[in-house]
Amino acid sequence: MSVSEPSILELRGLTKSFGGVHAVRDVSLKIGKGEFLAMIGPNGAGKSTCFNMINGQLEPDSGEILCEGKNIAGFAPRDIWRLGVGRTFQVAATFCSMTVIENVQTALISHARESYRLWRPAASRHRARALNLLAQVNMQDAADRPSRELAYGDVKRVELAIALANDPKLLLMDEPTAGMGAGERHGLIDLVKRLVVERGISVLFTEHSMDVVFAFADRIVVLARGRLIADGDAASIRDNEQVRDVYFGTGKTFAGAPA
Ligand code: ADP
Ligand code: MG
Repeated sequence: MSVSEPSILELRGLTKSFGGVHAVRDVSLKIGKGEFLAMIGPNGAGKSTCFNMINGQLEPDSGEILCEGKNIAGFAPRDIWRLGVGRTFQVAATFCSMTVIENVQTALISHARESYRLWRPAASRHRARALNLLAQVNMQDAADRPSRELAYGDVKRVELAIALANDPKLLLMDEPTAGMGAGERHGLIDLVKRLVVERGISVLFTEHSMDVVFAFADRIVVLARGRLIADGDAASIRDNEQVRDVYFGTGKTFAGAPA
């Protein structure tokens, strides 16, 4: 990202403690338009705390979260979502009670700020657009199935369609592939990347598989004990001594990094 290019999101000095635990300390970073940015770091590094401050679930102790220049730190999750910061893989409690397509239709209705009450008798509302979104995640054949019957990997793809229904500028994905096997992980992130590149959506994601991180991320930021210790492309992260030290003994290797 060039210096002059406006960022979709900028963190400035973001800080959060829980009692005596400094979960996130003075983290500053920028996410450019259309960038596919991975945040990595050992368990407890502060990744989820960062995500939860960005999406409004947690209020920072200090620091700024600039969304296209506007400080949204401490805003309610709903208001942040309406500004175009979407979250995947955080399904609504009602997800299982609806069919696959009803879940996507509900997201489209919500995005258009229409009333749910008006929707109930009109099951056809946004159906064509919902089907189109399902087709993009290869789930159109399951449109009228109850969501509770879906296999785990299929739920993830429907969740992606739901997130895209909100037409986000930035997607936050905290461990989107948790619980998946290696092939399935690759497949999901590959699908996400293809869909967001087409739309120019920026993505901030966490992922435990270094293979996936090095294969897909445009840029990688590394957290350790709440601090940002590295920010760069795959090659610079792979060669970073401090990053290697942080991962030493955690069982993670950088075997997937391009040579
Ligand atoms: P990561 O997602 O990188 O594994 P987290 O952001 O979940 O890390 O956690 C960072 C640190 O903050 C950890 O030490 C964790 O135990 C602590 N922490 C996270 N959330 C809470 C909370 N709600 N209350 C107390 N401590 C928390
Ligand atoms: Mg986490």
